[in-house]
Amino acid sequence: MIPVCEPLVTPRDIELVNDALASGWISSAGKYLDQFEERWAAYCGMTYGIAVSNGSTALDIAVDLLKLEAGDEVIMPTFTIISPAQSVVRSGGIPVLVDSDPVTWQMDAGQIEARITSRTKAILIVHIYGHPADMDPIMALAAKHGLTVIEDAAEVHGAEYKGRCCGGIGHISTFSFYANKLVTTGEGGMVLVKSKEHADRARSLRNLCFQPGRRFYHDSLGYNYRLTNVQAAMGVGQIERIEETINRKRAIAHAYNTAFAGIPRIQLPSEMSWAHNVYWVYGIVLGEEREADAIQIMSQLREHGIETRPFFLGMHEQPVFQHRGLFLNERYPVAERLARKGFYLPNGLTITDRQIADVVKSVKECLA
Ligand SMILES: *Cc1c(COP(=O)(O)O)cnc(C)c1O
Repeated sequence: MIPVCEPLVTPRDIELVNDALASGWISSAGKYLDQFEERWAAYCGMTYGIAVSNGSTALDIAVDLLKLEAGDEVIMPTFTIISPAQSVVRSGGIPVLVDSDPVTWQMDAGQIEARITSRTKAILIVHIYGHPADMDPIMALAAKHGLTVIEDAAEVHGAEYKGRCCGGIGHISTFSFYANKLVTTGEGGMVLVKSKEHADRARSLRNLCFQPGRRFYHDSLGYNYRLTNVQAAMGVGQIERIEETINRKRAIAHAYNTAFAGIPRIQLPSEMSWAHNVYWVYGIVLGEEREADAIQIMSQLREHGIETRPFFLGMHEQPVFQHRGLFLNERYPVAERLARKGFYLPNGLTITDRQIADVVKSVKECLA
């Protein structure tokens, strides 16, 4: 079976992790944590980095920084992983959804303004599958209405929007460093912020809101979302080779794009003129004219020894939210089509050119 994605752990990563272990700094303080936070914030063009245990807990902290009151609204795409919506619901807010752009699969910036109300506090952008969302119109709307912009950049490490790094454009951004992401620490995440106030608050939230001058005295509820120095050591190694990682991801995507260019009634990943796509995953969307849904082609590919994954199922189609009375009778046709017709192919950093050729051959057979 050709796996959809396997992490690449380099000798350099192992050397750094061993050094962290040998130093005795194995918990949530140490030089690698400082380096990882500083380097990742600098790479993305943000001021402060706060390393946390994963991408979902990073979102919990980012949303906590909004200080939502019950009933406050946060606009986000329906086509996403559940993490951002769950952070908003847990903190008493209401996720307000928009559909996706049919070409880029990103949050449709044109639908946001119609959903702004007096209760709207923030726009939570989720950049999808390696391609940036169209940020300029979103930032302009946020400025006009006084909204905070959070970027969930867990799928776009190093991707660029008009030459600026994703995760460096909004007021707050979050990353995941899960094993299948472009930069990994096994499990891990980070919150990036621009203001010292946000940074201090995020650090406090990460560590149970202990008071600096008076430990075991608390004036608000925090979390234990700390990352270890050992994990951060791996992160430092991963950042060193990010250009190589991105180049390889782009080369894999280029190989697939070239091979699949002639296949009728399918849609391949886009790269807008204003975007630098890092192709976190390589997605294919079957045309509506095709009878087969993704699930059928995926099971055929499995028989050929090719592992795939389905696209996201929209938040408005999730029982967990419908049970709470959210998104009832809401329809988002693009996201619904993507969920039914989209899937992605193996494009991990360990895939060989030979395996890419095998995937191409099988995909062509299954789509003929
Ligand atoms: C992976 C991912 C997350 C969650 O990250 P974890 O580290 O798995 O908690 C959040 N948002 C997006 C967009 C992701 O792709």
